[in-house]
Amino acid sequence: MKTSYDIVVVGAGPAGSTAARYAAEHGASVLVLEKDRDVGYPVRCGEAVSHEGVAQFIEPDPRWIASTVTKFRLVAPNGHSVVPRLDGKGYVLERRLFDVEIAKLAARNGAEIVTKAYAYDLLRDGSGNIAGVRAVIKDQQAEIGARIVIAADGVESRVGKWAGIDTTCHIRDMESCAQVTLSNVRVDVDTLDFYFGDDVSPGGYLWVFPKGHDTANVGIGINVEEAKKKSAIRYLEEFIDKTFPHAAMVTRIAGGVPCATTCEEIVRDSVMLVGDAAHQVNPMSGGGIISGMIGGMLAGQVAAEAIRENDLRMLPEYQKRWQKRLGWRHDVFYNIKEAVASFSDETLNGICDSALKLPEDKRTLGAIFRTALWNQPSMLLDVAKVFVS
Ligand SMILES: Cc1cc2nc3c(=O)[nH]c(=O)nc-3n(C[C@H](O)[C@H](O)[C@H](O)COP(=O)(O)OP(=O)(O)OC[C@H]3O[C@@H](n4cnc5c(N)ncnc54)[C@H](O)[C@@H]3O)c2cc1C
Repeated sequence: MKTSYDIVVVGAGPAGSTAARYAAEHGASVLVLEKDRDVGYPVRCGEAVSHEGVAQFIEPDPRWIASTVTKFRLVAPNGHSVVPRLDGKGYVLERRLFDVEIAKLAARNGAEIVTKAYAYDLLRDGSGNIAGVRAVIKDQQAEIGARIVIAADGVESRVGKWAGIDTTCHIRDMESCAQVTLSNVRVDVDTLDFYFGDDVSPGGYLWVFPKGHDTANVGIGINVEEAKKKSAIRYLEEFIDKTFPHAAMVTRIAGGVPCATTCEEIVRDSVMLVGDAAHQVNPMSGGGIISGMIGGMLAGQVAAEAIRENDLRMLPEYQKRWQKRLGWRHDVFYNIKEAVASFSDETLNGICDSALKLPEDKRTLGAIFRTALWNQPSMLLDVAKVFVS
């Protein structure tokens, strides 16, 4: 390890490793600091991604794919369910292995990765300009110089705050999540299940994602305000007692997901935010693996260009590229999420039954949302924008 780099990335999740990969590929010297001992562990994720999303970064590999899914089933509060037509496929990953593969791609492009390396502050020069990070690396204090710091430190990001960026997620937009991995369950190996309704997951959804034939990630995300009345884990346990009474719980996690629009500012001075740290999660689905990797790629590319041109004034270009690529879609998804979250059980049942009346080949996700929002004409345009493009 050297004492200074062009770029230091804090966090070796998918967003950080992807930022490092593209920055290194474009010629920058890059160091990634990861506070945990192992990249990819602990896993706090349902692990579902689309084929299309993954394949733009890495060839899908059975070694880190637990299940290939071709369907998803939406279950209404009254138990009726609809399976929208899907044109693509998706995967339930083994993130513990997937994250390592993504980190290896960064390393192959020349990035250095150090684990058990906790960044605790930004380093500043005599004029107060950001000049790197302070960290504890394998129990030793270290000061590492960097021209650019990429904050990929996840939902509880502190690096952005140290740079003076407001990374607070409004409590209204924070989903409280709990998930267990269950073994000894019967699940459809090719189907993602989503359950809706006030009794199961008020204002959010509960998921059952298969990991092979007899194992599944079963999780729930509900609004933090709802969780104050009854915790996410309580809802989850009730569902499991009813649905999978003979299951064994092999992992158990809890965490927050920022289901918000992207932070207003994701670049300040020489600090760039990526992934959950920048709230680059799809606010409607809560999925943040691929969108975080896209954020990481764009940040890594712009950071390397700025180093090459010796002009850090180029960094705000990252925010522009993000907004053009995905930020605008997240703004639209946010509006749709807001509208859907207020639906009563009765409305959700009605949407499901209307969708079931559509011919099977017309039962697309876009058509279902159009049915759901038919009485909100301004939203129909939004639905068209994100489901047609
Ligand atoms: C219960 C749950 C289920 C989910 N299910 C899905 C799903 O099915 N599909 C999907 O796409 N998304 C899902 N998500 C969201 C997804 O997990 C995140 O969006 C994704 O992991 C974000 O990647 P990231 O690289 O930004 O952050 P992370 O994966 O959180 O990585 C951040 C890294 O930074 C490190 N770090 C933090 N602080 C420091 C520091 N000070 N110094 C050094 N290192 C530090 C952490 O140890 C961590 O390794 C889920 C989230 C939760 C909570």
